[in-house]
Amino acid sequence: MEKHLKIAIFQLSLFGINTYIVFDPIKHEGVIIDPGISNPREEKALIDFINRENLKITNIINTHLHIDHAIGDSIVAEKFEAPVLAHEDDLPLGKGIVQQAQMFGLTTNPQTPEITSFINDGDIIKVGDGELKVLHVPGHSPGSIVLYDESDHFLIAGDVLFKGSIGRTDLQGGNHSALISGIKTKLMPLPDNTIVYPGHGEPTTIGEEKLYNPFLR
Ligand SMILES: [Zn+2]
Ligand SMILES: [Zn+2]
Repeated sequence: MEKHLKIAIFQLSLFGINTYIVFDPIKHEGVIIDPGISNPREEKALIDFINRENLKITNIINTHLHIDHAIGDSIVAEKFEAPVLAHEDDLPLGKGIVQQAQMFGLTTNPQTPEITSFINDGDIIKVGDGELKVLHVPGHSPGSIVLYDESDHFLIAGDVLFKGSIGRTDLQGGNHSALISGIKTKLMPLPDNTIVYPGHGEPTTIGEEKLYNPFLR
């Protein structure tokens, strides 16, 4: 299969969130995944990259609606006039983003993310000539999704799977056994060479996590 999509990674300050831009460099189309920008400098870095690559942003996608992943939704939605996508089961989290800020002791006053449409397990999101498949893997949050690009062999994992770890399940709507079984049934069957880009920390692969992740034994 032919390669289509590229990834740009922005490691940002709010809990070390990774914001991703997945884009087709030939068709000049891209999506912003988990806009965690929380200051003007981070906003500028993201916007400068998009302008430099001359990208049309077709969608903004939230892997889930924790504050670090959704705090920049309204800024980029307005700037790029793009729809914001998330799983319906995380709506209560999104509506409670101010409470999330308070819970984590943040002094920022985040804007409630306005979700334009809901995405579900099995949905395909087009990005230029490439595509991302939505897999619903609840447990870290009820509406956590990951995005799988079969032809380019990568997975945007949100806070579902990390290098050597998995998402925490002690927050609102968390469910440890659902998370473990979702990872085992939906992610581990993917090819070993699939690169996993998590919401925090360094990339890994499905093969590496199969061998070394202590939570999946
Ligand atoms: Zn999270
Ligand atoms: Zn996170």
